[in-house]
Amino acid sequence: MAQHFLQSKAARSLCLAQVFRLTDLEAETKFREIRWSETQGEAVCPACGSLDAYSARRPSGLLRFRCKAKECRKDFTITSGTLFAAHKAPLRAYLAAIAVFINEVKGKNALALSRDLGMSHKACWVLLHKVREAMAEEFKGRKVGGAGKVAETDGAYFGGYVRPANFKENRRDRRLWINQSGKRQSVVIVRERNGESVPAVFKSEGAALAWIKSRIQPGTIVNADEAGGWDGLSSKLEMKRINHKEAYSDGEACTNQAESYFSRLRRGEMGHFHHVAGPYLLRYAQEAAFREDARRVDNGTQVRKVTELALHRGPSVDFSGYYQRHIKAA
Ligand SMILES: [Zn+2]
Repeated sequence: MAQHFLQSKAARSLCLAQVFRLTDLEAETKFREIRWSETQGEAVCPACGSLDAYSARRPSGLLRFRCKAKECRKDFTITSGTLFAAHKAPLRAYLAAIAVFINEVKGKNALALSRDLGMSHKACWVLLHKVREAMAEEFKGRKVGGAGKVAETDGAYFGGYVRPANFKENRRDRRLWINQSGKRQSVVIVRERNGESVPAVFKSEGAALAWIKSRIQPGTIVNADEAGGWDGLSSKLEMKRINHKEAYSDGEACTNQAESYFSRLRRGEMGHFHHVAGPYLLRYAQEAAFREDARRVDNGTQVRKVTELALHRGPSVDFSGYYQRHIKAA
């Protein structure tokens, strides 16, 4: 049997020992090269784009720049205006956190990361959500498929688990809507066969139809299972349906790659995250899609990609100042 990619040498291009051995200056240089790749790491003022800046170190060692442009004179750091703006931990810890997160191919729990890095659980929890936000950048506006290409779509419910009552006489049929918590949501995936994916979250699978159509290029052949919810897709897309009661693949149609995405997300839910409900479900869904799409990419390339995404986008939407607003007060 052929060797699995993750067992091959090609999968291991970065090891944690290398990251931990980085000096502060080396970590800084890596971040500069990634953030300001067009200028080989030379500082670019985020306010006016000037390449001319004074640099000085704070007593804490933090490197700060001041723009020399007369009208600007803004102060900035390597992470100003990025996802890691106002970071507390050393930059090396951010690289290490991303590397640990990438290495756990089915997800990394924030408590385990806090033990790995010697940081608080809450700081790690926020940090991992920022890494997920960076991964989410990949899916903005993405459309899959194209003429002659094949895509698969499917949905699965997550969240809103209702614990069965202790005594038999108190138990209810948890399949019925009336006995559910109202927190259950449907993750829907659109995945090009042997290509890229896009996930989204909806109240129900039926609510996802317009979104699915908007994320698939014209001319794509779309595979879905026999669930009635997908019937509405055939008005705009060429469909192939597979009845899972009969077979998982009949040589014509199958949704196995969509299923393998859900398998990864479900394992992350059961093994690491435990409760994936509410507003963060989309982030977990995007994390699983990023991992699924990058499953044959070596870990060093993935760490660099996530760091790039984090440094080339604005501050966190979910967590900017979260630490100050929620955690210091708690
Ligand atoms: Zn400036």
